Amino acid sequence: MAKSTVTPIKVRTSRAPKPPWLRVKAPNSPEYHATRKLMRAHKLNTVCEEAACPNIGECWAQGHATVMILGSVCTRACAFCNIATGRPDQLDPHEPEELARAVATLGLSHMVITSVDRDDLADGGAEQFVQCIERLRETTPETTIEVLTPDFRNKEGALEAVVAAKPDVFNHNLETVPRLYTEVRPGARYFHSLRLLDQVKAQDPAMFTKSGIMVGLGEERREVLQVMDDLRSADVDFITIGQYLQPTPRHHEVMRFVTPDEFKEYERLAYAKGFLMVSATPLTRSSYFAGDDFAQLRANRQAQLAKRSAPGSEA
Ligand code: SF4
Repeated sequence: MAKSTVTPIKVRTSRAPKPPWLRVKAPNSPEYHATRKLMRAHKLNTVCEEAACPNIGECWAQGHATVMILGSVCTRACAFCNIATGRPDQLDPHEPEELARAVATLGLSHMVITSVDRDDLADGGAEQFVQCIERLRETTPETTIEVLTPDFRNKEGALEAVVAAKPDVFNHNLETVPRLYTEVRPGARYFHSLRLLDQVKAQDPAMFTKSGIMVGLGEERREVLQVMDDLRSADVDFITIGQYLQPTPRHHEVMRFVTPDEFKEYERLAYAKGFLMVSATPLTRSSYFAGDDFAQLRANRQAQLAKRSAPGSEA
């Protein structure tokens, strides 16, 4: 896969040692290698590799890879992200077909599709998302689809096109609290991202919406709680919260390792604020156990609807 220019984002020097709860086994199982081979055979990029995800050994051993469409080079330079920044790749017209074939081979019941940011494209890459969703629906109609999209900033009609293609879950990550945007996510705007999630629900109230943040970047607890409130005001169903890990010494440093007990407390508070589904653990990532979580999310909504329609319910 072609790796072009990598833009140094910030020069940092320290890398804090990981606490025991973040140590994972090196990926080495035969199933992991089989998934890797399949991704190579179909010339697919994955965020699992590009973002140096710590869960890769566990996910790939089960064939769960998150495919990253629209090339391997991003037009943004977020301070937390390991994906190369620079001149983006040419769009691959075969990508939707290759993706559909790989999913069919893996026999996945749930597939997460993400992408790099493509500010250079008129539609931000929305049409490629649509093509991928459509090919998957044709090839493996039983597979549920989750998209994890860029913010489509200044790309009129892009969001609407992806929503109209009817993925089962629309995920867009806020990544961090608003105060840290200029240093962590300089090309994005917090309230734009929030509005995007709100618009998805406005366009298709039945679609599940999902968003996530990383903690350990210097945010305060009260700011995390504010993000939860903001997401609930946009009627977001599912929140993910995971520990930020510094991919290389050039990236934003880890300001703090949040303890497992603090994650449990975030989970409790998020449920209390009305999220249908919460994943808050040190190793939580947007797509970690996304299939199991989707099944749970759907069951939670059904239970909620049944409760509301029960005789005597005030809702
Ligand atoms: S958590 Fe997501 S990005 Fe990480 S390895 Fe699993 S599927 Fe890939």
